Amino acid sequence: MIQLSNIEKIYDGASGPVHALKGINLHIKRGEIYGVIGLSGAGKSTLIRCINMLERPTKGKVIVDGEDLTAMSDSQLRKARKSIGMIFQHFNLLSSATVYENVAFPLTLIGTKKSEIEKKVLPLLELVGLADKKDQYPAQLSGGQKQRVGIARALASDPKVLLCDEATSALDPQTTKSILELIRDINQKLQLTVVLITHEMQVIKEICDNVAVIENGVICEQGTVLDVFTNP
Ligand code: ADP
Ligand code: ADP
Repeated sequence: MIQLSNIEKIYDGASGPVHALKGINLHIKRGEIYGVIGLSGAGKSTLIRCINMLERPTKGKVIVDGEDLTAMSDSQLRKARKSIGMIFQHFNLLSSATVYENVAFPLTLIGTKKSEIEKKVLPLLELVGLADKKDQYPAQLSGGQKQRVGIARALASDPKVLLCDEATSALDPQTTKSILELIRDINQKLQLTVVLITHEMQVIKEICDNVAVIENGVICEQGTVLDVFTNP
């Protein structure tokens, strides 16, 4: 479903080039939950942002669902990105928009008809358990509820892949658990492929099928969660 081949990313840092990714190879299968774990600065965020080309890799190939994103023009990419949803550590909701409007936002952007937006948004709010909050504003919600809005918004364009960028790092352990359960539920119901990055081992153990450990821009271990975390 997702194939990263020899991905390199070099940033122009203030004090010279920063080699954030040094030849990453990853194969993520359709329908699995794949975790990437590493310390702060290891390159996790850069890696996940290369999957939807929020960052263009300096070198290498990104193939998602059979399409080579690295070969696409910006306008082709905008279309292809509809099949890749993303959620964030700090949720990135629009504070002046209601829950409903936040979830509808990606559809509004592409000019979807009001009646179709409604048909899409209301079931999504049901799915994430926020149907009764649709007219509230983000400031009125808990962290976990905000992330549920983020998840519903990410699903609005019917993606095949969900990218989770430290999606539970701002949440307490109990809320983290319920968000991870929701992600697994969605993964199964919608046959969605999930990629998540985290610095927390517990998150990986809780829901991932396979895991890669990234250190200093290099994948140093890769395999099933059981294999990687029970090796001596
Ligand atoms: P992580 O998500 O694991 O914390 P990042 O991908 O954010 O790691 O960062 C990897 C490396 O790239 C770090 O050394 C970081 O300082 C550097 N980096 C990230 N983004 C930029 C940027 N826009 N410009 C320059 N350096 C960056
Ligand atoms: P961090 O990883 O630094 O904690 P976030 O996870 O909140 O920050 O956001 C990651 C990045 O995603 C932001 O730096 C921002 O540039 C970008 N971003 C913000 N809103 C959106 C959006 N709606 N869609 C795609 N990318 C976004």
